[in-house]
Amino acid sequence: MISIHQALDAVLAAVRPLPSEEVPLLQALGRAAAERIISPEQVPTFANSAMDGFAVSGAELKAGRREFRVTIDIPAGRYVSETVAPGDAARIMTGAPVPPGTDTVVQVEHTRAEGDSMTVETVPEMGANVRRAGEDVTVGDVLFERGAHLGAAEIGLLAAVGVQRVRVARRPRVAILATGSELVAAGRPLEPGQIRNSNSFTAYGQVLAAGADPLLLGIARDDLDETRRLLAAALENDVVITSGGVSVGDYDFVKQVQDELGVERRFWGVATKPGKPLAFGTRGDTLVFGVPGNPVAAMVSFEMYVRPAILARQGRPDVYRPWFHAVSAEPVRRTKDRTEARRCRLTHEGDAIRFTTTGPQGSGILSSMAGAEGLFFVPPEYPGSGIGTEMLVMLLGGTSTERPPFPGASAPG
Ligand code: AMP
Ligand code: MG
Repeated sequence: MISIHQALDAVLAAVRPLPSEEVPLLQALGRAAAERIISPEQVPTFANSAMDGFAVSGAELKAGRREFRVTIDIPAGRYVSETVAPGDAARIMTGAPVPPGTDTVVQVEHTRAEGDSMTVETVPEMGANVRRAGEDVTVGDVLFERGAHLGAAEIGLLAAVGVQRVRVARRPRVAILATGSELVAAGRPLEPGQIRNSNSFTAYGQVLAAGADPLLLGIARDDLDETRRLLAAALENDVVITSGGVSVGDYDFVKQVQDELGVERRFWGVATKPGKPLAFGTRGDTLVFGVPGNPVAAMVSFEMYVRPAILARQGRPDVYRPWFHAVSAEPVRRTKDRTEARRCRLTHEGDAIRFTTTGPQGSGILSSMAGAEGLFFVPPEYPGSGIGTEMLVMLLGGTSTERPPFPGASAPG
């Protein structure tokens, strides 16, 4: 069995980037820039007022003038080219261009107005309340590097500089296939001995959240022909996730069928709990993950290996989750020969972040994933410890370019 790091290295080494495509701006949401993006425009385009108030000459204020004659009105969207004389003021609204001859805005709350005249009651700094042209973005600025994730703020920034089309990585297509003769599709009645298929649903959500397109291929019974037929269809995609059938049971056909269909095995077995029998291989550029069937093992395997692979295929550098060390709010139980990834919730206590497990941690207990905010990692052969023990926590949200320092080496067997 290889270590978590060895498994991650093997997965990331097998990733080939996907081709790019140019799409309208809104379609780029949630995707990765396929090239560096340079700003064609500056923001703000012109010096404008940050307040509703009066634009005046800062030099006049400095020289002691408090009374100004209001000669002009400038709402947002109107451009005034005449110069405002030194003793004059322009009534100006937020976002309106600051007219020539002025450089300072006195906010309306700091003035008193009487007919055409305005008195400054609180004197601002020279240049106050004016947003400089180009103070946010200047022409030629690098807005985003290649591989950058384009979320809501990034799309907004591109809109602000007039970008209408963006070159992004193609969204990976991820085929999801559940295996197991005991599985029943949603909506069908349960017969004795049958269980409901949940792995397809959790995988669907995880794939979508990783910025990829999930394709549900249903359930393959533990039957060689059926598994062959469905896996062959799955292999036409960028990434394949099968769940179940990769262990050492009599009906665990997934590895055999992978081999028959020309999937080149990169590893089988990671020294981790849950998720030990993970089988990973490639066929051409397609990444093929055989995750274990236990619902928590399937989800944790996705988090640990499939998600980084999906992000890396889009050219993202931030393929990892954020991580930190936190202290336990409860005793930490012992482990055997494998690193354990336990699900937890996080709370603040003073300056420290504390973690608490989400109830029973069996790899079949899917409710332990529900509401989990992170995974904490307990090294192999851990003797157990009390409250306040520091452990590595990996968040189940956000991204990072830095790989978490997972504990545990490779293990025999
Ligand atoms: P396997 O890895 O095929 O040996 O399956 C391990 C356990 O996970 C068994 O208890 C299966 O019934 C269960 N399991 C397998 N696939 C699914 C699935 N799609 N949804 C829910 N449970 C599953
Ligand atoms: Mg099975």
